[in-house]
Amino acid sequence: MTAFSIVLTMAISENTRLHYLNALGITVWQSRINETCSTFAEISLPPSSVNEDALPPDSWVVLRNQVIQCEQCILCTTRKQTVFGEGNPNAKWMFIGEAPGQEEDFHGTPFIGEAGNLLTEMLRAMQLTREEVFITNILKCRLPDNRNPHVDEIHACRDYLHRQIALINPKMIITFGQVSAQTLLEKMDSIENLRGQIHQFQQKPLITVHDPNDMLRSPIEKSKAWQDLQFALEAFKQHE
Ligand code: SF4
Repeated sequence: MTAFSIVLTMAISENTRLHYLNALGITVWQSRINETCSTFAEISLPPSSVNEDALPPDSWVVLRNQVIQCEQCILCTTRKQTVFGEGNPNAKWMFIGEAPGQEEDFHGTPFIGEAGNLLTEMLRAMQLTREEVFITNILKCRLPDNRNPHVDEIHACRDYLHRQIALINPKMIITFGQVSAQTLLEKMDSIENLRGQIHQFQQKPLITVHDPNDMLRSPIEKSKAWQDLQFALEAFKQHE
């Protein structure tokens, strides 16, 4: 086991321990992880070692409270508030972006502003509403200056997302952007290599789409994203 894997395993064990303690109503002070860290692009993610079967029954209340109070990475020092996600807790569709932006951080809501409006319009075109689906991010706190996430931040936050997915049990997962896709698929391929395929995450179909923020910058990305969402609609019908 490498030193990096040991650190990750310790972080996940700590998550599990905190999960148990929080379920008992015990609040624990958590120290912050070292600020000096590598960028996501520099280090590949090892597979998660969380034993999902060993966790006690989870609940939205416990999970939401843990996220609100979380200080497991340095991003807690620059956020205004955590952005847990929103939508239907029994959604068939789950959409997962990278991290909240400044506006999301201010309002505590994922995907608002121009990119959020674009997402809402795309959902409408798929005959879905924001209330029907669940929308969240890999990271629950804003990245300062829109920098790339660090690998230790993704590791620190990953357990929350896995628990959200387990609670919702969606029929289809859509990831927005490269970081989101790479994190869930534990692959370092580019978004271009990953799109156009039905991947699996915990036996659920997962399809990768360009980030709505990228779509705003490029009409080509927007048209590719729409192709990918139509592909997802077809895949959803097959898996329903
Ligand atoms: S990004 Fe995630 S792990 Fe880091 S402080 Fe926020 S909620 Fe906690």
